[in-house]
Amino acid sequence: MKTASNRSKAIRMQSSKERVPANSATFLQVAESLAEIGRGFYARGWVLGTSGNFSAVISQEPLRLAITSTGLDKGALTPGQFLEIDEAANVMRGDGRPSAEAVLHLAIVRGVSAGAVLHTHSVSSTVLSGMHARHSGIALEGYEMLKGLTGVATHKHREWLPILENSQDMVELADRVSSRLEQTPGVHGFLLQEHGLYTWGESLADAKRHVEILEFLMEVLVRSGAIQNA
Ligand SMILES: [Zn+2]
Repeated sequence: MKTASNRSKAIRMQSSKERVPANSATFLQVAESLAEIGRGFYARGWVLGTSGNFSAVISQEPLRLAITSTGLDKGALTPGQFLEIDEAANVMRGDGRPSAEAVLHLAIVRGVSAGAVLHTHSVSSTVLSGMHARHSGIALEGYEMLKGLTGVATHKHREWLPILENSQDMVELADRVSSRLEQTPGVHGFLLQEHGLYTWGESLADAKRHVEILEFLMEVLVRSGAIQNA
């Protein structure tokens, strides 16, 4: 049955030539890659209990993202569970609604020209972002694995991982994310306090690698007991 809101949505879509979905083949290809990455992250314990969300830019002009719809078991993620959203998080393709955190993905895409944004809720990121919150971030330095971050060529690099206070008001939080990205150029990710990690990359492969590198380094800090000295 067609509801009034569906009808008005259809009219809105017809009234603007811009409001058309991006290339279907590109969308499906990206959705397939994101689903595979998501299932892998679930297997690592980084996105349990429907947590986390993943997106990738499928068109720049106009801006279109493929993104997980809300409330999904990431261990059984399929390409059909992805949505296409526009620059205001309106759904352009797919069933379901985007996570409230979609506006954070859009803020990151705009702030750092990311091609993909990945968000995890690991035990390490939850523990560390709580313990280090009063420092507003965590310094990662001296680790060989830092070289997995784009543009980093030596273990002597000092990576700053900002920590932002968590919120359920995503519009307010997206504003803070945008400001923090402006204040700390060159960071590869940030933590939301007792919530999880956001990281990104120019490509989806870069973003996936950044999750692996940052999750590895956070786990090292937790397991090595460095956290006790925070
Ligand atoms: Zn989250």
